[in-house]
Amino acid sequence: MHTAPSPDAPVDSPAMHELAPYADAPRLRDARSSADGLRLTWEDDAQARLPWLWLRDHCACTECRHPQTRERLALPRADIDPASETRLEGGHLLLTWPDGHESRFDGRWLHQRRPGSTAISPLPAPRPWSDDYRLARVAHAAFTGGVDGERAWLEALLRDGLVLLENGPLADEEVSRLATRIGPLRATNFGARFDVQSKPNPNNAAYTAIALALHTDLPNWQHPPDIQLLYCLENDAEGGESLFADGYQVAETLRQEDPEAFRLLSEMPIDFRFQDEDQDIAVCAPILTCNAEGRVVDVRFNNWIRDTLRLPAEVIEPWYRAYHRFWTLLHEPRHQLDLTLRPGDMIAFDNRRVLHGRGAFDPNTGRRHLQGTYLDRDMLESRLRVLARHP
Ligand SMILES: [Zn+2]
Repeated sequence: MHTAPSPDAPVDSPAMHELAPYADAPRLRDARSSADGLRLTWEDDAQARLPWLWLRDHCACTECRHPQTRERLALPRADIDPASETRLEGGHLLLTWPDGHESRFDGRWLHQRRPGSTAISPLPAPRPWSDDYRLARVAHAAFTGGVDGERAWLEALLRDGLVLLENGPLADEEVSRLATRIGPLRATNFGARFDVQSKPNPNNAAYTAIALALHTDLPNWQHPPDIQLLYCLENDAEGGESLFADGYQVAETLRQEDPEAFRLLSEMPIDFRFQDEDQDIAVCAPILTCNAEGRVVDVRFNNWIRDTLRLPAEVIEPWYRAYHRFWTLLHEPRHQLDLTLRPGDMIAFDNRRVLHGRGAFDPNTGRRHLQGTYLDRDMLESRLRVLARHP
């Protein structure tokens, strides 16, 4: 069946119950029905075949999709007969199924979702640091005063894994107020909010004045916190500069310079564990986790809470050499970013990617006080998608 485009009579666009924008996409020019689906052509000459099962499953009528929650109400089928009638109106698609059910699709919505198209996303791809990497900086007033500053902060954090917010107020709990704009605080065994300052009788290295080598927080959890925010309220002690290294970049350096070391760290799960009087939080996972394409997507590195190394005897020594090689690369100046946080600064980083540490400081020369919390990366991505609704 060949359906000619209808005259340009104004037609109400079908409601797709979709909040992400699609009004800029091309409309449909042609629809040809066949046994294996509908062959669609859009105004920009893009073409795609959509199987009948897919079209029926994506019906956006109020029987098939809840108009308030936008959730799918109908189960997909295993097979279906072709639509008995196919029409284009104003660049949109109207189908009547053999059982009389009617489906209406906005042609622009279909264009965004046609097979073979790349998903449209406002999220930046992670970009490993390179020689020309520069720390992104956003003014506190820009973050709180409008969406552009907040968007710039979110994009830098998802792209680089690190962003500095500058010139904020010296206000207790400002870190919580900023974090709550993005999402709920992620609590751990150290609480939803923590203070980093030297204090008597520490139960954790972060509460002392000693230097902290590069690490990620809480790799002993099945799901370590994604994003860490550290807000500086006081920093006049001598020393105590913050150190960062991009685990993605250093892992790629390791992969190039020592592929066998990379293989050991990415394939051998090891044990991480925290234990105190009340808790025993442990997981077995590799230092580097790769996705299906082989790209490193998760870095667990924290020498304090590595547990007993349980590996086959013949792997133990090569594993230690690989671990030491990664440690050495991480701490090379070419991979490291040093930063002295000023009061009113907030550093945010992706704890599943960027390692952090700090130089030793002398608590007798002044006070040092940071307030920190964690956020889920899901909430950063969600916030960027919401901001993208009104570009
Ligand atoms: Zn329907």
